[in-house]
Amino acid sequence: MLPLVESFYSFQGEGRFVGTPSIFVRLGGCNLGCVGFGVTIDGHVGCDSLKAVNQEHFGHTWDKVNDLIPIINEYLQDLDFCPDIVFTGGEPLLHYQNPILLSALSHFHKHRITFETNATIEIDFEKYPVYKDITFAMSVKLENSGELKSKRIQYEAIRAIIVNTQYSFFKFVLSKNDIDTKEIEEITKPFNDTKIYCMPMGSTAKKLAQNDKAVANFCIKKGYNYVDRMHIRLWDNEEGR
Ligand code: SF4
Repeated sequence: MLPLVESFYSFQGEGRFVGTPSIFVRLGGCNLGCVGFGVTIDGHVGCDSLKAVNQEHFGHTWDKVNDLIPIINEYLQDLDFCPDIVFTGGEPLLHYQNPILLSALSHFHKHRITFETNATIEIDFEKYPVYKDITFAMSVKLENSGELKSKRIQYEAIRAIIVNTQYSFFKFVLSKNDIDTKEIEEITKPFNDTKIYCMPMGSTAKKLAQNDKAVANFCIKKGYNYVDRMHIRLWDNEEGR
């Protein structure tokens, strides 16, 4: 069984492959809570993916699936090209050893597959070599997440991803209040060949606009790549986008 929160077809709105048509598969559960992001749903606080994180309160809305392949094939039957497939969450690597997930990864190996991860779970790449062909968007959490540093920064997990994969990259979410952070340098210093993308915090276009210019100027100063959150800019926090 694999907890599936939702799947949808859209384009990638963030990170290295922004603008690419992509099938999204959102898996349930997360090993962090990130209350610092301050998104509130039904009185519960967390990040903008709260419904995929908080199993206790939202788990009853998740599907329990035994096969992902037909679910992804539903989207492919209307397309005459090979879109990206993006696994997101929650934290999709909680399930990295799950046979249902592994079987989908092998089946769709001709697609470019990305995992959006907080990079805290160390993958055994020798036991599960299928992950060597995957790109990891490593959104390592900063102080603004409200999580303990000892929990959110796991260098060995990051190192395993960088050593074993070719195109993985860092992705950080910042507000205008966080741009004095030294943490991005601290986290990325041992991995100085890995690309760094920063994007503005905000779950609506209005909130993005409060942070975007400060984050863009920070990126120019530091030599990082600025990336917008195009899906939010276009559709706010509409589900399935
Ligand atoms: S790690 Fe990501 S999905 Fe999990 S709580 Fe934090 S922001 Fe949300």
